[in-house]
Amino acid sequence: MYIQDQLQEIRANIAAAEKRAGRTPGSTTLLAVSKTFPVSDIMQAYADGQRLFGENRLQEALEKIPAMPTDCEWHIIGPLQRNKVRKTLEAGVTLLQAVDSSKLAAAISRIAGELGITARILLEVNVDGEESKHGFTPDGLQEEWDALVALPNLDIRGLMCIPAPTATAEGARPAFVHLRRLAEELRARGPLPLPELSMGMSHDYTVAVEEGATIVRVGSAIFGKRDYA
Ligand SMILES: *Cc1c(COP(=O)(O)O)cnc(C)c1O
Repeated sequence: MYIQDQLQEIRANIAAAEKRAGRTPGSTTLLAVSKTFPVSDIMQAYADGQRLFGENRLQEALEKIPAMPTDCEWHIIGPLQRNKVRKTLEAGVTLLQAVDSSKLAAAISRIAGELGITARILLEVNVDGEESKHGFTPDGLQEEWDALVALPNLDIRGLMCIPAPTATAEGARPAFVHLRRLAEELRARGPLPLPELSMGMSHDYTVAVEEGATIVRVGSAIFGKRDYA
């Protein structure tokens, strides 16, 4: 079974990377990125014990969530439009990983308040400062930090990044180090513990684990090549 073999290999690679880095065994969570893959594939991962899945687009998540067992947990890892925040929170998504602006954070805060819940989010950081990319710049996040922390009904769990593609996994290391250091600086400022660092994908997740990722987002290494047709 391809998917189950892949999952087992990835779990072993994560455990080995935790060991190399002197981290607590099991301190990294594997998020299976199931975007574009059918429920039959996701069920294979489920059968191998995988419970946490990530989707980019709300529409696709809304189709898959009811089709999968209820003990699955779902994160939205793609850019979120403000007009989709309410539906996303109502769908029972447990973490919005790609909150990329104060405007979006404020909208989530307001809607979570209307729904009577606390929304768990990560703030997306544009660590390599590419103009075209989503996310807070590291300086911008420092500047907006006090205002972000003051927003009600939000549980800001940590930071995430999607670095520019690199030729080798090692090439992504500086971006991961950058995100980790930024989280350390923000923790030092207080008042949030910021336990989560979401970084690393199929190509570079072992390097991300070495640099302190608590969530790695792995898609194609589990499910195979994506077909966007
Ligand atoms: C698609 C996607 C991933 C997974 O990418 P793979 O290279 O298939 O592992 C991770 N994070 C985000 C934000 C994505 O959009």
